[in-house]
Amino acid sequence: MPFISCKQVVRAYKVDNHEIVALRGIDFTMEKGEMVAIIGPSGAGKSSLLNLLGGLDKPTAGQLIVDGQSLLELKGRALAHYRLERVGFVWQEVEKNLLFHRSALGNVTLPMMLAGVSPFTRRKQARELLDAVDLLEHINKKPSQLSGGQQQRVAIAVALANKPQLLLADEPTGALDGKTAVAVMDLLMDLRERYGLTILMVTHDMKMAQYADRVLTLRDGALGQNMSDEDASPHL
Ligand code: ADP
Ligand code: ADP
Repeated sequence: MPFISCKQVVRAYKVDNHEIVALRGIDFTMEKGEMVAIIGPSGAGKSSLLNLLGGLDKPTAGQLIVDGQSLLELKGRALAHYRLERVGFVWQEVEKNLLFHRSALGNVTLPMMLAGVSPFTRRKQARELLDAVDLLEHINKKPSQLSGGQQQRVAIAVALANKPQLLLADEPTGALDGKTAVAVMDLLMDLRERYGLTILMVTHDMKMAQYADRVLTLRDGALGQNMSDEDASPHL
């Protein structure tokens, strides 16, 4: 059984008296440990799809299964558990990833605190993760004292705090300069290897998409052909 199975997934939003269909019957699967990049123009439905996989939103129709669990059936505590412990998110915007009044360490311990992990264990795991993202000497700094690349590395540590198997990333390098973006992607690749992560990443940047095992194109709510490197346009 694939790790992720998305069958005929539709997401329509009601806006005033009409409907916006953001996803028009999406079909795809991902294997455990795979990394897939989704590219596509603005408004194509990329964020809508990530939100569904992260349990932040429900599809209007279709089937969505992650690690044997149907996301449509999750409610209440089970849904909260899924969001907090089964999946990690990294967004482009630092303010969506991090709390500014907390240190790097405090940001990484927070999801564990919410999950009921003991203070000792959460400090230990947070230090290990901040070491894994090479920020051990900055654990007491607040986000405003860190560079953009360092902030994204803290964000990755936060996303992995509760040891999820699935990492969802929405333009994780979109706010970074080219060199820093490459460093963050290299780090993601290391962590993927180390923890056996399955990664679904949305990006506009073909250079970043090339880190993926597969690239899917989403256009107007529909998945296109898998792109090969030769077809890939650097101008997307
Ligand atoms: P992308 O991430 O590819 O830019 P989105 O998933 O954000 O695409 O949006 C897909 C379509 O759905 C767009 O037309 C967008 O305006 C619409 N949309 C997204 N979220 C909402 C919402 N909460 N309410 C209404 N329309 C939405
Ligand atoms: P071991 O050291 O027993 O081989 P792992 O290599 O699985 O264990 O994990 C090493 C460390 O990374 C441990 O502290 C573990 O809690 C942590 N860890 C394992 N999986 C993840 C994950 N998906 N995200 C974050 N941390 C993880």
